[in-house]
Parts: sequence; C-alpha cells; structure tokens
Amino acid sequence: MSTASLYRAPGERPTISFELYPPRTPKGEVSLQRTVLDLAQIGPDYFSVTYGASGATRQTSRDLICSILRDTPVTPIAHLTCVGASEADLTEYVSELLDEGVRDFLALRGDPPAGQEDWQPHPEGLTRASQLVALLRTVVAARLGPADPVSISVAAYPGGDYGPDGQAVVDPSDVAALLEKQDAGADFAITQVFFDPAHYAELVSAARAGGVRIPIIPGLIPLTDPKRLRRLEELTGVRVPEQLLDSLDSAESPDEAYQRGLTASVDLIDGVLAAGAPGLHLYTFNSSKAALDLLDRAGLAPTVALGGTAPQ
Ligand code: FAD
Repeated sequence: MSTASLYRAPGERPTISFELYPPRTPKGEVSLQRTVLDLAQIGPDYFSVTYGASGATRQTSRDLICSILRDTPVTPIAHLTCVGASEADLTEYVSELLDEGVRDFLALRGDPPAGQEDWQPHPEGLTRASQLVALLRTVVAARLGPADPVSISVAAYPGGDYGPDGQAVVDPSDVAALLEKQDAGADFAITQVFFDPAHYAELVSAARAGGVRIPIIPGLIPLTDPKRLRRLEELTGVRVPEQLLDSLDSAESPDEAYQRGLTASVDLIDGVLAAGAPGLHLYTFNSSKAALDLLDRAGLAPTVALGGTAPQ
C-alpha cells in the first residue's frame, strides 16, 4: 500500500513508522538485520531509510531498501537529497529505485557535507527539496504513467523556539518551504525532532493558516539517552529542555534514567496525538529496544493490529 493512501482515509489508530539508516560497518549490518525483523514484527506502516550527505550511502541505502522489500511485508520509503548530484544523477538513481519496486520517497534538500559550512548546489543540480519533488513527479510520470502511483513525503520543522510570552513559535520560512513542497506534489510531511507538543501544534496551525493541507507526521526520538539528546541538539540546533536532561542525569541508575525517558516520551506522544497527529514516526538510531518499549508503554504496540500483516 502506498504511504500517501494511509493518510487519505485515516484509520482509527495513528500510523506507526520507523526511521533507519544504512549500516556503516559489517557489525552494524548484522545488528541492523535483527532490528529490522524485530520492528517488522509489530506490523509498522512503513520504514524510512536515510540517505547520507553527497550520496555517500547511495549503495548501502539502496541495499537496505531492497532487503526491506525482500525480507519484510513493510513498505520502505527511500530518502533522497539534492546534495552533490546533478539532475541526471538523481533521475538515474530514482529510475533504479523504481525498477527495484520502490514507490515511496522522502524528498530532501540535504545538509552540506561535513566540514562545509554553506549549502552549495551541484552546478547542474537542484537547490530545494520542492524542485526534487517536481523532478520525482516528472520521472515517475515518464516511467510509470498514472496507473502506478508513487508517494512523496517531505521534511517539516517544528523547531524549539519560544516567543517573548513563552508561546511556541515556528519559522515562517519553514512554513513557506512546506507550502512550496506541497504545491510541487508532496503528499505528506514528516517533522524533525522536537520536544514540546506545543511546537508540533503550532507548526500544524501555522501551516494550515498558510494554505498547507497535507498531513504532518511528528518525528520523535525516544527520550531515553541523554548523550544522544545532547548530540542531536548540536546537529539540529533544536534545544533539549533542561528539565528533561536534569531528570535523566539525576537518575540513580541507567535503568531509572531509561524509565524516566520513556515516561517523558509517552507524555510527548500523548501531547501530539491530542493535537491531532495522524501518525508517529520514530527515529530508531537502528535500535529496536527503545522504540518498541516506548510503543508498548504508550499502549500502541499490538502485534498484528498495526499496519500491514505481521510476519508469521
Ligand atoms: P528545503 O525544503 O529545500 O528547505 C531548505 C531551506 O530553504 C530551508 O531553510 C527553508 O526554510 C528554505 N526555503 C525553502 N523554500 C522556501 C520558501 N519558499 N520560502 C522561504 N524559505 C524557503 N538529510 C540528509 O542528508 N539525509 C537524510 O536522509 C535526511 N533525512 C531527513 C528526514 C527528515 C524527516 C527530516 C526532517 C530531515 C532530514 N534530513 C536529511 C535533513 C535535511 O536534509 C536538512 O534539514 C536540510 O537542511 C533541509 O532539507 P529540506 O528538505 O527541508 O530543504
């Protein structure tokens, strides 16, 4: 089932999906195979597979997508970025993925490669995710025609900023970018990490006021690992609440910190569902434990009721 169709006629439950990244080492590859099978057991609606800066993971991303298609009943979404690629390169890669049976894409501009400050487009490439959405629609129409639908998702940014009155605020340029991506043919959006449901609610509200109609799925990380949260803050610029870090740091044991993190994560899930989130996309960092423990704690982890059919 295409991922876009999941949101056209929303079911009784939120969609559940997981982000994975391609393995960096042979050891990572072995443990990722286990993670994929463990996560597939609960019948998620889709996996999304990241794509490294400058196409560095092009082959390993593709291998992971193919193994999900081959070994599980779960739909994979292939992330794509504009970094370091000409339009011809992107067309070729998309065509290869279509030939493998991929029908779901997440179109991104991508970040500059490590060590490079500014975003620099390839001389014959694209500068914005909206252009990649348009290119995808053109390539798909030429190769598959209208009878074989493809879903395209894009990124959205709740951020972590507050106004002078303490209200969550979002960046208007991110809402403008989202509208541009919708107009180019995006079906739904998945958000970057955030830590306050008010930021998700504000993004949805600002997006709707700005003409964005596509579903916006919150992207969430299990809040169980303070080291990872601090690293993520450095990478994304989204501030992790002091109170959360204090709570994790002051726990008397790693297990107590983990349990406190799960409790904070369930509160975040409850908050976004109360704000009308149509699904939950969990950043797994290629580990199934925290994601599955979190869904279990949140009462969202039946083994067959979610998504497609769980493997026997
Ligand atoms: P765009 O939507 O093109 O936006 C880029 C910039 O232009 C933004 O600052 C935006 O505000 C501005 N802009 C665009 N249009 C307008 C407009 N009309 N008006 C005003 N301003 C505008 N990166 C990877 O390298 N690989 C991955 O696999 C990957 N996966 C991701 C998955 C998710 C769910 C998310 C949220 C991010 C992911 N990223 C990934 C990171 C992403 O590539 C970066 O955040 C990147 O800096 C921006 O990508 P974008 O697609 O949002 O860009």
